[in-house]
Amino acid sequence: MPCIRQGGTNRKVVRMVELKNVSVHYKEGVDALSDVNLRIEDGEFVFIVGDSGAGKSTLLKLITREIVPTQGRVFVNGYNLTNIKKNKIPYFRRSVGMIFQDFRLIPDLNVYDNVAFVMRVTGQTKRAIRHRVPYVLDLVKLTDRAKAYPDKLSGGEMQRVAIARAFASDPGLIIADEPTANIDPALSYDIVKLLKEINKCGTTVIMVTHEHSLVEYFGGRIISLKSGEIVFDDVVGGAGEDE
Ligand code: ADP
Repeated sequence: MPCIRQGGTNRKVVRMVELKNVSVHYKEGVDALSDVNLRIEDGEFVFIVGDSGAGKSTLLKLITREIVPTQGRVFVNGYNLTNIKKNKIPYFRRSVGMIFQDFRLIPDLNVYDNVAFVMRVTGQTKRAIRHRVPYVLDLVKLTDRAKAYPDKLSGGEMQRVAIARAFASDPGLIIADEPTANIDPALSYDIVKLLKEINKCGTTVIMVTHEHSLVEYFGGRIISLKSGEIVFDDVVGGAGEDE
């Protein structure tokens, strides 16, 4: 399927994720991250792995500006998140698409409206919505389920709706927090393949996962966290074909 970018050639291209000497010390005395340096370039696809408690959620919360570091600086999509003004945070958040393990669809909206809703609340025109929603539903192969409500969908379908929703506003960055955790393992590969397809359209994708088999299959850049530190950051070959 061809990539259709929503913002055309006028998109702001200062997009990347950079953490400089970042530490997060929670009040209760835990050092969740210690002196982390990390740069993810525009257009990369990165897996973040690590045991429970390693610091993965803390890293994602920094990147989405849910928390600020105790020390160091965080830059995402051209915003300095360490000193961003409060009234700019909603604009920053629109440049990031989020995908969660529990899907977070709106139960009383059908598939089409779940995707359209986020575009409506961010002020997109009706015309843009009419063009974009069918395109993203086609991308995730859910055109024939557009009128279905979430309670009639499988886990895999719900996550595909969530991917369509995250991509609808054409964000520079998509963050997927264990997107395959509640999905039939056989369908997990399709979810990652979809994220890879979106990544090929130029969107940076950061995916946290516990599933070693997925990481081994797809390969690519893998960042491994342990006790708040990056213990591995390299590109590895995948055992499966990188489609
Ligand atoms: P992961 O996502 O890899 O499981 P987290 O980032 O959630 O790791 O947690 C890293 C460390 O920080 C853990 O020791 C965890 O207990 C601690 N932690 C996480 N959130 C908080 C919090 N809000 N308050 C105190 N400690 C926290």
